[in-house]
Amino acid sequence: MPALSEVLAALDALWPPERAEQWDAVGTVCGDPDAPVSRVLFAVDPVQEVVDEAVKLGANLLVTHHPLYLRGTTTVAADTFKGRVVHTLIKNDIALHVAHTNADRADPGVSDALAGALDLRVTRPLVPDPSDPAGRRGLGRICELDRPESVSEFAARAAARLPGTAQGIRVAGDPERVIRTVAVCGGSGDSLFDEVRAAGADAYVTADLRHHPASEAQQHSPLVLVDAAHWATEWPWTEQAAAQLDEASDRHGWDLRTHVSRTVTDPWTAHAASTPPTE
Ligand SMILES: [Zn+2]
Repeated sequence: MPALSEVLAALDALWPPERAEQWDAVGTVCGDPDAPVSRVLFAVDPVQEVVDEAVKLGANLLVTHHPLYLRGTTTVAADTFKGRVVHTLIKNDIALHVAHTNADRADPGVSDALAGALDLRVTRPLVPDPSDPAGRRGLGRICELDRPESVSEFAARAAARLPGTAQGIRVAGDPERVIRTVAVCGGSGDSLFDEVRAAGADAYVTADLRHHPASEAQQHSPLVLVDAAHWATEWPWTEQAAAQLDEASDRHGWDLRTHVSRTVTDPWTAHAASTPPTE
């Protein structure tokens, strides 16, 4: 059975922490480097429901995409919700490790997993990482559909392929428009509209689109926006990441058991369709 430090070295090889954004907080939140690891759970959010799932599963390591603490803290007291998470983890000998923007920019990264879930063929990064001579790492991906299809067909497939959430899929733009080139960015991608337009994409799949950026993008060009729940756009990465650790485990002869959390941690829980105002 490998020690936590050995498993973390394998994870750092996949998503080197030095490739994370400056503001990010990636790496190991808690855990004893010498503790043995046999079971690993992957999830998007380090929330109490997911930690409880890790306890039930008998996991020794929880790997999440989102950080537990993005900024400094002076308390992990169990009467705070994050402190409760830390207490549950430590009492149950579970380590927590975060791969966030370093996983976004990796090859394969979060947006490759999103593209794969949508049956898109990745051609290049949306914002290439200048330090990668192969030109494969970076933020977001530009992709092609195997055959052109209407926005409504594409949105229906996205709704069927991504894990279900109250939001489902929202579209801004002409549902009948036929698209072929699609940009994707897992998580909040509303800062990349210029790059998406420059790449000549017909549609852009991302999350957390707000009124003003979306409205202005619509005025600017006929780019179709496809907005999914933030959690749903990043969840495919957990399956990809588990498969990557499985491969490392086979290579090292570790016999690790990897699991992917299916707990929906998108904060939105219900959706009621509404109708436009009438005369
Ligand atoms: Zn995210």
